[in-house]
Amino acid sequence: MSDEHHSFATRVTHVSRPGIRSHGFVNGGVHRGSTVLYPSSEARQTLGAAGLDKHALTYGTSGGPTHFALEDAIAEVEGGTRCLIVGTGLAACAVPLMAYLKAGDHCLVPDSAYGPTRRLCDGLLAGWGIETTYYDPTIDAEGLRSLMRPNTRVLYTESPGSHTFELQDIPALAAVAHAQGAKVLMDNTWGIHHFQPFKHGVDVSIQALTKYVGGHSDVLLGSVVVNTEEDWTTVASAGRFMGHYASPDDCWLALRGLRTMAVRLKHQEAAGLEVARWFESRPEVLRVLHPALPSHPQHALFKRDFTGACSLFGVVFQPRYTRAQADALVDGLKLFGIGASWGGFESLALATTGFVTRTATSAEALGGPAVRFHIGLEDTADLIADLEAGMARLA
Ligand SMILES: *Cc1c(COP(=O)(O)O)cnc(C)c1O
Repeated sequence: MSDEHHSFATRVTHVSRPGIRSHGFVNGGVHRGSTVLYPSSEARQTLGAAGLDKHALTYGTSGGPTHFALEDAIAEVEGGTRCLIVGTGLAACAVPLMAYLKAGDHCLVPDSAYGPTRRLCDGLLAGWGIETTYYDPTIDAEGLRSLMRPNTRVLYTESPGSHTFELQDIPALAAVAHAQGAKVLMDNTWGIHHFQPFKHGVDVSIQALTKYVGGHSDVLLGSVVVNTEEDWTTVASAGRFMGHYASPDDCWLALRGLRTMAVRLKHQEAAGLEVARWFESRPEVLRVLHPALPSHPQHALFKRDFTGACSLFGVVFQPRYTRAQADALVDGLKLFGIGASWGGFESLALATTGFVTRTATSAEALGGPAVRFHIGLEDTADLIADLEAGMARLA
């Protein structure tokens, strides 16, 4: 077993291992199951009532040993007490929003939120009489206070923002939300363990385990971590009401990904920074959107709140280049796939400008055509050579 004082790499190597219970094997098994058999009718009554209790085996949808192992591991990664595993990262965004909001409520969402989260708010939630206001993610406490209404129940946050990488002053914003009785939800997919949500005032932390935890672009999963029994009851019962579930095979793959995540992240953080700094040195580039670079406008928040970075960042090219020229750069890359789901072992490039929706801020304000890069486990010299050849296609 790992202890609190152990480093992150040690903890993800040891957390949720079965010990000698799994016939002595290092890894636990995949436990598939729908029905749970009870020894007697009386036992069925007691166990059935256990419902949301930790590790209560009542029916397949409330999870089995493989789910519980992953839940405990992710709760540990984020420093919370309980974790709900759902089938996708998007479901992990949707479940808490639906759990805390009801008809007549108001929700505040950063303009830089993951696109499908925005579609959920503008679609289903709006249809159910829940109003969303999008806010500038760099808003300060004073600005947020002026947007809060008596019926504001949720302050949704995501830091850094999808595609545009703005950082949010989570503790300051959480204090404003809590003063008015609103819950603070955060999509912490970029932060992973580098941002400890519950030390910064977050009530409910969301992650797409699809990204670095899975780590191999072969699994879709989401997690919702909370830190109080009250929040657990709210979130877990909403998930169960809607029948959310994840395959134990996928949970097993995520546990397998987790074992090597510390070393992958460490490598990818350094590789991402090396490539980001190379972009910064190029005359074709207007700016690089990477919170760990001193040039990032909210770099001070990064230094205050984060212990490290992942390998996803944006590059804004000089305004003299067109979107089509940036596309030509991307289309000819040999080592970068054109694709959305980052966090795997392979490098990716994806156009930003023209593809993201902003209403409280402006994607045009970036100043030029932008591309999001994810740096994988390839050799950085090879990646940079590929990008260098791409620069010729810009012109
Ligand atoms: C990918 C992603 C999600 C959704 O994850 P899926 O498993 O693909 O549904 C949610 N939030 C952020 C920030 C993401 O990058």
